[in-house]
Amino acid sequence: MPRPRAPLVAAVAVVAVVAGCSADEPSGPAAPPTRPSSSAGATEDPATEAPTASPTPSTEPEPAPVRPADFDVRRARAAVQHLAGRIGPRHGTSPAFALAVDWVSGELDDLGYRVRRQGFDTPAGVSWGVPVPAGRSVNVVAAPPGLDPTSPHLVVGAHLDTVPQAPGAEDNGSGMGVLLSAAAAVADGDTRLPVVWVAFGAEEPRGPSDADHHYGSRAYVASLGPAERKAVRAMVSLDRVGVGERVPVGSAHESDPVQRSLFAAADKAGVPTTPDPFQRSSDHWQFVLEGMPGARLGSTPYAGYHSAGDVPSVVNPAQLERVGRLLLAWLAPSG
Ligand SMILES: [Zn+2]
Repeated sequence: MPRPRAPLVAAVAVVAVVAGCSADEPSGPAAPPTRPSSSAGATEDPATEAPTASPTPSTEPEPAPVRPADFDVRRARAAVQHLAGRIGPRHGTSPAFALAVDWVSGELDDLGYRVRRQGFDTPAGVSWGVPVPAGRSVNVVAAPPGLDPTSPHLVVGAHLDTVPQAPGAEDNGSGMGVLLSAAAAVADGDTRLPVVWVAFGAEEPRGPSDADHHYGSRAYVASLGPAERKAVRAMVSLDRVGVGERVPVGSAHESDPVQRSLFAAADKAGVPTTPDPFQRSSDHWQFVLEGMPGARLGSTPYAGYHSAGDVPSVVNPAQLERVGRLLLAWLAPSG
């Protein structure tokens, strides 16, 4: 990814930023969602203030372009196992969800990203037949150190919550696993634009209408100012990406440029796809509603959907790998 060439300084800044923002969510009192701010980045990250003053200009090699082959499916499988096998059902305002937030935050922090938690209010409701209480949920947002959020970037997201009765291996441990593994590859490689990774809270429905789900992505989008919205060149939601033989590439309308760019990337990576038009059932839809380009990978039906049967054995590693390779081809400098 395009980023400052001062990894040690940046790593210290990441630790300081995370320590500063991790105490207030998700169990603290209600606080307004934190908002990306270029001025905050400039004061917190010395690398932003002096990008040309690296003390080691000649010894560090340029990062190589990310390639589909950089995707490590073992990391994605381990995430599915941890989220669905250990943590289990985790609706967006539950204690188990808070555990998942801590875990994902730590994983992204370890990769060198600047991680922050964005809290937001989530109403009580009925989620897939089960009453759920109102409360705070959280988005985990990980950006490259020094990223100016008003400069062009891509957003890759996956929802971290589940319906109350499901361990959520496929929905959506699979998407979270692909996100973490791709984020690991990108941490060491160059991409066509910087990538912001988001683990969304409270995607699952709490009522019957289009206003009763996607709370995390709605909060994220609402927190962006005009310049930040313009900077989001494309958003991809990874949601249910571990079953089937072909990768569904979903567009909110009949077709759109993000979907077409994903098809092109799939061709380069040798990954079979299937079009999924008018796909509005994931977090990309909130971006599209607000005028930003967005698409979804995944959505193949399966027997364990939204049930106690959504366990790790449902998820096919070969499909995780197909999606991961497609995503890295899309992010690559030639993508
Ligand atoms: Zn889902």
